Amino acid sequence: MAVALDQRTDEQKAIIEMVRQFVDEQIIPQAEHYDSADEFPEPIVAQMRELGLFGVTIPEQYGGMELDLTTYAMIVEELSRGWISISGIVNTHFIGSYLLMKFGTEEQRERLLPRMATGELRAAFSMSEPELGSDVAAIKASATKDGDEYVLNGSKMWVTNGLLSGVVFVLMRTDRDAQPAHRGLTCLIAEKEPGASENPGLTVPPKIKKLGYKGVESTELVFDGYRCPANMILGGEQAGLNKGFAQMMDALEVGRVNVAARGVGIAQRALELGLKYAQERYTFGKPIAEHQAIQFKLADMATKVEAARLLMLKAARLKDAGERSDVEAGMAKLFASETGKEVVEDAFRIHGGYGYSKEYEIERLYRDAPLLLIGEGTSEIQRMVIGRKLIARNKV
Ligand SMILES: Cc1cc2nc3c(=O)[nH]c(=O)nc-3n(C[C@H](O)[C@H](O)[C@H](O)COP(=O)(O)OP(=O)(O)OC[C@H]3O[C@@H](n4cnc5c(N)ncnc54)[C@H](O)[C@@H]3O)c2cc1C
Repeated sequence: MAVALDQRTDEQKAIIEMVRQFVDEQIIPQAEHYDSADEFPEPIVAQMRELGLFGVTIPEQYGGMELDLTTYAMIVEELSRGWISISGIVNTHFIGSYLLMKFGTEEQRERLLPRMATGELRAAFSMSEPELGSDVAAIKASATKDGDEYVLNGSKMWVTNGLLSGVVFVLMRTDRDAQPAHRGLTCLIAEKEPGASENPGLTVPPKIKKLGYKGVESTELVFDGYRCPANMILGGEQAGLNKGFAQMMDALEVGRVNVAARGVGIAQRALELGLKYAQERYTFGKPIAEHQAIQFKLADMATKVEAARLLMLKAARLKDAGERSDVEAGMAKLFASETGKEVVEDAFRIHGGYGYSKEYEIERLYRDAPLLLIGEGTSEIQRMVIGRKLIARNKV
């Protein structure tokens, strides 16, 4: 951790200290309650709004803090150390604001970003459907032109913040004959009433029951004649029609850095819990931390956490410097999400039978960690992306 810490600017140190204190005082003590009730942590989110955490990367001219991806990733690591559901509430919002900043028209930015910077308006991001997740190019839900509007039909699946968001960046098929198929997809900005399960042309069914990652809702979105003005195609109709796949893939690259940060955060917390328990629990007359098998486990855990953090920071810094970071973001996401799961499992083993009890925090981490292997592309998909890009960069 020393190298990464040394590379922090004074501003980053101050922000991370503030977020860590918030996590230790407000998130960790309350996570168990919201997790077991599967309840949205409204008071925590209200405090995050006060701290400005919904506008971290949004430019100052729209009311945000205008910080870079590296600082954002450091913040996400800290939030995830507390509870990854909290970083889930911020993540799709961050992807939405990235899409607006990079591709949106000025009119779209002015309409949405000031309210997004304060967290008054929160964003969701929707590509997956009941029959597809990895194979984005196969999207079936459609947007069809009717006058100066597009009519949206079809089901979207697994939308994080699906109910409480006020704006959804949704990828829809706008050209059924496009070859290759991904050239017929468009990102539309669908506005809705936060918390309303019925909107004109858009129903939000009850939230999906999940293994972990509770508190933040995952829902289906059923579009049935939802009307979206043509000027709410991301980037405007002329620039954005049938350009949605490339826009979303660009956003997923920063999303992968974000998931990597979540992997580091949950692994860091598991390491802390493992270190603590190993010194408190006695077997055969001494703390289990003094058994070499446990020490080796802790050593491997700490080494993986450190390596994952460095990969995550490298990918973020490359992106901030305007350099190519596709391979690096894929590597960071792959390694950090697998590290999250492995380090959590090791800490769980260190806890013995108590790891299986809801009395101990590690039980929640054990249910939360697997999500990171799936969201923003599974480990298999990361390997495909890394492999393809590696070959493209090293053509013979
Ligand atoms: C809690 C949660 C929140 C989510 N939030 C969102 C969200 O906000 N927005 C959103 O759009 N989506 C979201 N998702 C969906 C997520 O992105 C998808 O689940 C993920 O992309 C995988 O898609 P899938 O579930 O359809 O699996 P599939 O694509 O059906 O894959 C099934 C298995 O096959 C493997 N596989 C697939 N293709 C290949 C291949 N070519 N080669 C080798 N192996 C392959 C996969 O790695 C996986 O192991 C969320 C999912 C979860 C669980």
